[in-house]
Amino acid sequence: MIDVNAIRNDFPLLQQKIYNRQLVYFDNAATTQKPQTVIDTTNEYYQKYNSNIHRGVHSLSEKMTESYENARRTVKSFINAQHQHEIIFTSGTTEAVNLVAFSFGEKFIKKDDEIILSQLEHHSNIVPWQLMCERTGAKIKVIPATYTGDLDLSAYERLFSEKTKIVSVNHVSNSLGTINDIEKIIQIAHCHNVPVFIDGAQGIHHQPVDVQKLDCDFYAFSGHKIYGPTGIGVLYGKEKWLNEMPPYKGGGDMIKTVTFEKTTYNDLPFKFEAGTTNFIGAIGLSAAIKYIEKIGRQNIFEYEDMLLKYATEKIKTIPDIRIYGTSENKISVISFLVGKIHHFDTGMMLDKMDIAVRTGNHCTQPIMKFYGIEGTVRASLSFYNTTSEIDYLVESLLKIKQLFA
Ligand code: PLP
Repeated sequence: MIDVNAIRNDFPLLQQKIYNRQLVYFDNAATTQKPQTVIDTTNEYYQKYNSNIHRGVHSLSEKMTESYENARRTVKSFINAQHQHEIIFTSGTTEAVNLVAFSFGEKFIKKDDEIILSQLEHHSNIVPWQLMCERTGAKIKVIPATYTGDLDLSAYERLFSEKTKIVSVNHVSNSLGTINDIEKIIQIAHCHNVPVFIDGAQGIHHQPVDVQKLDCDFYAFSGHKIYGPTGIGVLYGKEKWLNEMPPYKGGGDMIKTVTFEKTTYNDLPFKFEAGTTNFIGAIGLSAAIKYIEKIGRQNIFEYEDMLLKYATEKIKTIPDIRIYGTSENKISVISFLVGKIHHFDTGMMLDKMDIAVRTGNHCTQPIMKFYGIEGTVRASLSFYNTTSEIDYLVESLLKIKQLFA
């Protein structure tokens, strides 16, 4: 059970007014707010312990190194990875996709090979693969979506050929909220001996994730979407792949020896962590994970599911409303358009009413094109949101509709 009032007190930003009324923050799929513990932990490390990791013998550096590696341990158990060195700290999901598209591509993909993406992908799980295809001459195949925003898995099965080298799909669609059946997607790919990358940017904080049980080959997520700091993220990769993949970036920490003739690379995970990483960000991320675990991911899932059902029923009562993404398996994201009102206008009017939502194509132009629209208004809900905030959203949308009538 979630005590939403107690939880809201943990988030200082939620206490403020933007114009006249207490902020209603419904833009959680873009970024989540930070609990006091994440802010305090980050501040404390800057104030008391700041020192670069891995390279110092002095106490501060040792303390920082230990805390950074503890943060890696926290991530490892959060997603139940088999080994700590399978956790690579990146700057976010985008960097994780770029890393795998580059390194996996360098090693395993050649001209005329094929990779499979889906129509629901965020641009950051499309463009890095296109860049890889430009370098190698490989081709992209796309799993089509149905009108409800689900992936057509029988069409998916037909996309495989002996040239398929990797599948990369999101766990949860950021613009529609669909929870993809990644267990099945992985199972089908593995029947063809093809590895699977899961973009977990919208998946990890809404429900429990066990990478060993899923048997995914890669899983990535961003700290800032999981109540942690910006500029930090995670790439999980199975040891066997990470060991075979060449480094993505060169620099300090990722080497064992350097001469002008030849450089040898460090072991995992450092081979993929060139230069000074966002080590305090990693420690902040670990504070966010501990905070989420204290609430319990199953509790979060159940509470947010209640919010989703409540919001969907209420929003549906607004005349001329169109909801995009009506899968039966959804997280708490509702994308919609009201009559002929432009999504930007709706978003701007809601802002004046102290409601923060996102408008536009949500970096998912292919699925917007499929629906024949430019964009939507997206309300994305978190465990710190309430049913009375949803009532206020519906009331405000009705007012906006009247104003535009
Ligand atoms: N993938 C999905 C599904 C997303 O929703 C996002 C961000 O909205 C990303 C990838 C990119 O995440 P980041 O900008 O944190 O790297």
